[in-house]
Amino acid sequence: MNQNSSAAASLLPDPAQQTYPVSALYVLATPIGNVCDITLRALHLLSMADAVACEDTRNTSQLLQRYGMNRPLLAAHQHNEREVAAKIVERLQAGQRIALVSDAGTPAVSDPGARIVDAVRAAGLRVIPLPGPSAAVTALSASGLLDEQFQFVGFLPSKARQRESALQALVSVQATLVFYEAPHRIVETTDAMLQVFGPQRRVVLARELTKLFEDIHRCELGQAPAWLQEDANRQRGEFVVLLEGAPAGDSDLEQVEAERVLRILLEELPLKQAASLAAQITGQKKNALYDRALQLKDEA
Ligand code: SAM
Repeated sequence: MNQNSSAAASLLPDPAQQTYPVSALYVLATPIGNVCDITLRALHLLSMADAVACEDTRNTSQLLQRYGMNRPLLAAHQHNEREVAAKIVERLQAGQRIALVSDAGTPAVSDPGARIVDAVRAAGLRVIPLPGPSAAVTALSASGLLDEQFQFVGFLPSKARQRESALQALVSVQATLVFYEAPHRIVETTDAMLQVFGPQRRVVLARELTKLFEDIHRCELGQAPAWLQEDANRQRGEFVVLLEGAPAGDSDLEQVEAERVLRILLEELPLKQAASLAAQITGQKKNALYDRALQLKDEA
């Protein structure tokens, strides 16, 4: 620590001066890589919590050890959330403070936790968020994509057909799309995105955020497969993929969306009714949709 940083440290606000009500569940964000990315309030609450409900007790016990702490842990993962929620409610009713954490980042964001929060709220007890890292917001903040809005998609389905229809459903969304992806699927996911969205949209591949090999690469979607193939290391680690939204008023995209709606309706309804409803939903011309529906029927 140099002189400036030690002076700054002595000026840090004292988290012990904050209030930490009893009978409350503290939804507490933990680092997504860099162990220093935790708030003063989170550290203080962890040091006084009666128990820490966590996704994986080994991971959380290691994390607590990094901060010189050892707290009672409650396993709260996707397979036992309902039962553990009931236990947590009982403990809170008895006046305890319980912290809820996941393996990394913000609980209940593509992670377990929502059922526990729901049960605690349903029991009329207090839920207090202690904000901190989330991979989605971290990637967005460093992306330079200018869209005011973003849509969080999280993980896509792993099966190719379902993944493609999930992507098709997003073609006309104008907000930046935010995906989570695992290393073993990053290549097929970016290939599928290229098929569905075409080469021109900008994409950000944000890898290993806050870690030693952090890499935030921005390019056109058409260049992403080659960039990933160029170096095997680029396919390693955890990814957030940000995809630029659809341009406003893009008539091609409106047509793609109309076609998608028409195809869905044609599976359930007679041709004329499907075309008429698709026109009402999408604002496209009824006659054009009717002609397209006839073509689709012929092709089937
Ligand atoms: N709850 C977490 C959050 O708030 O971001 C997300 C948990 S989810 C199970 C894990 C996924 O988040 C990873 O597969 C990856 O897509 C993304 N992720 C988590 N940490 C990351 C990091 N350091 N760099 C890039 N992506 C990360």
